[in-house]
Amino acid sequence: MPELPEVETIARRLDPLVTGRRLDKVKVLREKSFQGEVSEVIGATVKRVWRRAKLLVIDLDNGKHLLTHLKMTGQLIFVDKKAKVGGGHPTKDWLDQLPGKHTRVVLKFFPSGTLFFNDMRVFGWMKIGDDRVLVQEINKYGPDIIDPKLTPKHFYQLLQSSRRAVKLIILDSHKVAGVGNIYACDSLNLAKISPFRPANSLTQEESQRLLKSLRQVVNLGIKHQGATISNYMTADGVKGGYQDIIRVYGKEGLPCPNCGAPIVKTKQGGRGTYWCEKCQK
Ligand SMILES: [Zn+2]
Repeated sequence: MPELPEVETIARRLDPLVTGRRLDKVKVLREKSFQGEVSEVIGATVKRVWRRAKLLVIDLDNGKHLLTHLKMTGQLIFVDKKAKVGGGHPTKDWLDQLPGKHTRVVLKFFPSGTLFFNDMRVFGWMKIGDDRVLVQEINKYGPDIIDPKLTPKHFYQLLQSSRRAVKLIILDSHKVAGVGNIYACDSLNLAKISPFRPANSLTQEESQRLLKSLRQVVNLGIKHQGATISNYMTADGVKGGYQDIIRVYGKEGLPCPNCGAPIVKTKQGGRGTYWCEKCQK
């Protein structure tokens, strides 16, 4: 599943390529994948491509926005004369002719270029909305973990508000956005905090350490353009590099980067938690 660094990478790659192009045609091949009236965006020019939480937003010059959520298996691929740029779930669709078997929406631009939205399992979506819809969608999420407006004090209060396990809280996008399983496991290891601690048991100092660690691993993910392990391919089809520097995620039995004890895998909230029983307290 693409996480914040992956979606951020797609936005950064698509923005310079798609901005300034006019949307000429939108072909919806699967109704479930697209919400809104196509006629509302035809003829509008792209102003900017950006990201908030895991939402990719294309701003148009007629006040509308085209929102995309890739969910589990979504993929965005922009094809132009020379370029083939995009990102998402790394399926064979990337290499095959487009539109392919899993292409759900095709956006044609003027003077050139086509954006394909592929989604094997059809959990992802594209949606047209005005500012009100955009705000509504964005308000479903807590602040981005890397947003400087999320202060250490706010983060501490957020942890104090729940007795649930700290890992489940940082994974909850209603509380804080942009922390997926890989980055949650890695940041808790970096901060030497047990994923199973009740969130409200963390001291102010531990909370600060965790916030710092979270930002460190997520920013590292962005710098390395995401992790391939999370079913992700960067905008130009190159695999993300974060998987090479992962600390604990998927590394059961391997030595902990802090203390050398073997990393264990424990089920938590239906997902795998990788951690070190020795140094994560
Ligand atoms: Zn350890």
